[in-house]
Amino acid sequence: MDIIHLLPDSVANQIAAGEVIQRPASCLKELVENSLDAGATRVQVIVRDAGRTLLQVIDDGIGMSEMDARLAFERHATSKIREAQDLFSLRTMGFRGEALASICAVAQVEMTTRRKEDETGTLIEIHGSDVVRQEPCACPVGTNIKVSNLFFNVPVRRKFLKTDQTELRNLLTEFYHIVLVYPKVAFTFVHNDEIILELPAGTEKQRIEAVYGNPMKNVYTSAFVEVKTETELVSIRGFVIKPENATRRAEQYFFVNGRYMRHPYFLKAVQTAYSGMLTADYQPSFFIYFDIAPESIDVNIHPTKTEIKFADEQTIFQILMASVREALGKFSLAPTIDFDTQGNINIPLPTDAPVSRPQLTVDTSYNPFHTRGAIYPDRAPKNWESLYDGLSETRDLEISTPRETAIPDAEHAPIWQYDGKYILMPSEEGLLLINQHRAHTAVLYAQFMEQLGNAQGAMQQLLFPEVISLPQDDMILMEQLQPDLRAIGFDLEQLSPDSYSIQGVPAQLAQQSPVPTLQHILTQVRERNADTRQEWREQIALTLAQNAAIPYGKTLTETEMREIVEKLFALPQFRRTSDGKTIVSLMTDEEINKRF
Ligand code: ADP
Ligand code: MG
Repeated sequence: MDIIHLLPDSVANQIAAGEVIQRPASCLKELVENSLDAGATRVQVIVRDAGRTLLQVIDDGIGMSEMDARLAFERHATSKIREAQDLFSLRTMGFRGEALASICAVAQVEMTTRRKEDETGTLIEIHGSDVVRQEPCACPVGTNIKVSNLFFNVPVRRKFLKTDQTELRNLLTEFYHIVLVYPKVAFTFVHNDEIILELPAGTEKQRIEAVYGNPMKNVYTSAFVEVKTETELVSIRGFVIKPENATRRAEQYFFVNGRYMRHPYFLKAVQTAYSGMLTADYQPSFFIYFDIAPESIDVNIHPTKTEIKFADEQTIFQILMASVREALGKFSLAPTIDFDTQGNINIPLPTDAPVSRPQLTVDTSYNPFHTRGAIYPDRAPKNWESLYDGLSETRDLEISTPRETAIPDAEHAPIWQYDGKYILMPSEEGLLLINQHRAHTAVLYAQFMEQLGNAQGAMQQLLFPEVISLPQDDMILMEQLQPDLRAIGFDLEQLSPDSYSIQGVPAQLAQQSPVPTLQHILTQVRERNADTRQEWREQIALTLAQNAAIPYGKTLTETEMREIVEKLFALPQFRRTSDGKTIVSLMTDEEINKRF
């Protein structure tokens, strides 16, 4: 007997719906995006019980014909693309043609719609993919779609919904992402009969003010300066906060061609532009809008994901950083000394340099962040004030102590690899022997700690999510570590009382199987009895660094060696790993000469 059969459409749609519509917020996003794609100038959102019982979106867009009203709910039915090629010139928010099909598979939907050329409109009612009614009706031009009892037929999904407060917050977050890019469209948001937001059509600045500030006073946006740059590749405009107005909790928004996006790499560009200007833990708020030819971005990643790939990320990074810097005061006074431009820089060895060696002195006031602000931007000194008073130079390098040990010029000094294990490099006093794996571990450790501190780990989505099953004590530990694991780039979702699904991993670990890495972290945290947040962050960072660092036996190119060494010497503590192992050892000229 044959055992394979095709799933009925209703079942297939319900499965697909799990992908697209995970919670009321994703449903709202799809509906509002459709209204915008339909050219609406006014969009009303009406919600009940955080979207559980009702999500309604009313627009004055182009509406649909009788036939299209029915077709719209079929899977892969779209008016927005016709062929694969169109994917590369997208000007609309939607294109997959699966949102309405997904929504109607898991809810009770009633829609009325009318085009301006039609005298009567159409009413259609669909419950769990079954059309229960379609008839002509009298209605205004535009579309009015009412989604009731979301997940009425998927109890599991319903159970996974969070409290009303959380779901409402999620709804508003999605809503903000959209309204901030469509300032010319008027929006209202009503929850349980109460008007939560009323946004008149206006400029971007007015919209930002209306969402985050007070449109009557314009205090919020006066804390920002404008960014505006046009290049052939990309146009960048928007608002970035004046450094003195930065706070711990920042609003950080990137939009590209009218779409919200997350972009950790570009975030780094903005942070770099601020380096040296913010106090510790402070983050810049910004609203930055990119316009770029649609062919040079790929939005086709996943309907619920907000990452977008750019063809020319490095160039855009530079343009972005430069335009933010310019906006912040033409020339940033952020320290810019680095190995690339300055050649030999003398940096004293840190405090554990052996006292027996006369040529080493210890400069306890040495602060690496003063000279290499870009690496730890948020710990750099607060010297932004100078931006606003005539751009006077106030560089404060604090590195000129006498008789310090010279760090070799990592860019030009000769460099070799020995035994697949060590990097050798001459310095003023002798030959430096650098353990390659430990050096890279230390560099990555510092990066991971920084990312944990500001929750900016770069995540790589897994094509095939993996499942990790754990005993109860580890499940508890896992729950405790979750915020930090997320911060570093793990995308985890509890699957059952004893398992998690791993949907994304820190980008640096994309090549590795995530289950052993996570187990390794849990073990380390348990074995080291790490029980403060700081301690377990250290364990997470160290374990990840060890896992991701280049192994012994790996042949390194010269560029790779230089990069590691340069980054290593930029660390405040480069002689030993955080768990106390030697990274750099100096064979002095004296020792070498004695051998002969
Ligand atoms: P997509 O937006 O990816 O095309 P959807 O399932 O969201 O797919 O919508 C299917 C089609 O239904 C759209 O392509 C559009 O033609 C039509 N449609 C959906 N919502 C509206 C609306 N509010 N106004 C006019 N047409 C709409
Ligand atoms: Mg759509």
